[in-house]
Amino acid sequence: MDLKIFGWDAFFEKHFEPYAAKGYSAGRVSLEHRKRYRLYTSEGELWGDIRGKFFHTAESREDLPVVGDWVVIRMLPNEKKAVIHALLPRKSKFSRKVKGDRLEEQLVAANIDTVFLVSGLDNEFNPRRIERYLTLTSESGARAVIVLNKADLCPDIDEKIKQADMVAQGNPVIVISALQKDDLKKLDPFIKKGETIALLGSSGVGKSTIINQLLGEKVQKVHDDVPNFRGLHVTTHRQLFLLPSGGLIIDTPGMREIQLWVGEAGLEEAFEDITRLAEKCYFRDCQHQNEPGCAVREALESGELSYDRYQSYLKLKREIEETAWQLTVKKKPDKKKKKKSEQKESKYKNRW
Ligand code: GDP
Ligand code: ZN
Repeated sequence: MDLKIFGWDAFFEKHFEPYAAKGYSAGRVSLEHRKRYRLYTSEGELWGDIRGKFFHTAESREDLPVVGDWVVIRMLPNEKKAVIHALLPRKSKFSRKVKGDRLEEQLVAANIDTVFLVSGLDNEFNPRRIERYLTLTSESGARAVIVLNKADLCPDIDEKIKQADMVAQGNPVIVISALQKDDLKKLDPFIKKGETIALLGSSGVGKSTIINQLLGEKVQKVHDDVPNFRGLHVTTHRQLFLLPSGGLIIDTPGMREIQLWVGEAGLEEAFEDITRLAEKCYFRDCQHQNEPGCAVREALESGELSYDRYQSYLKLKREIEETAWQLTVKKKPDKKKKKKSEQKESKYKNRW
């Protein structure tokens, strides 16, 4: 099977070279389940286990594979199984904050090329939320497409498009009703062969509906025919799917309930207009509050920048700074000489 259909390209090829010379193969993770990984490989779909040495040399959870990752494997002859020896570098990665109060980053998916940021055009429509998701996407390294769904429930689409355009920062804005199968064609230009997409958005905006429409019944049947996994309800045991159009889609629960985990870079990109204005502020470290010569405040007063967007920017900025600060504080006790192996154990305890 040609790995290109699963997203293999020159980037991974290059990083795989040293392994290729030693006779290793490559596979892409379609599911992570209690330290076991389901893989797309040139020999079909297999389960892979992590080699002990790889597991023990991993410094953190980040160093271990997640859905979408490419891994270096050795096939076990006649067993339809593989052993995972290493992880190839990631082109993009999505992290969320671990649920609850703990301040920890958790990687949920890797190597996503394009993210559909889904919003409902019903009463839940909220440009501020689009801003948040756009910030997250900018941080990940993936491209963003803003998808406004439930067009059938919206009496003032033009107005909503205008609002979405204002926060889109040049990213495409597409309007659909996921219940109309034909409407999904509008997403085709963004679903390219061998490229991986994922959907982000609040609960209830229509992500599952869109995914089901894109997948269609046909594909699920095709996958059920994969010889080694007949009867295993493969479709539910996989979170990276091949689409009929040739693209791939990642649908993991982690992406669905994502909480913001971003840094300054993502913020600057998602609020490029404000970043550009801020360069003209008199003070280098201007907080855009009451400082004299603040270009951001001037833009607010002239109406060039909306007050809501300004507030949203400050809120996200505060959140990011707060997270960064808490992380610095949190790191300190770690420095007390705890044995590295102990640290690792405690790290994993809560994660698997
Ligand atoms: P998710 O939580 O984002 O996965 O949202 P779902 O796909 O489960 O959709 C939530 C609800 O919205 C379901 O009842 C869908 O049938 C409905 N829905 C999804 N897309 C549309 C749409 O374009 N128009 C309308 N009227 N309802 C939709
Ligand atoms: Zn300023």
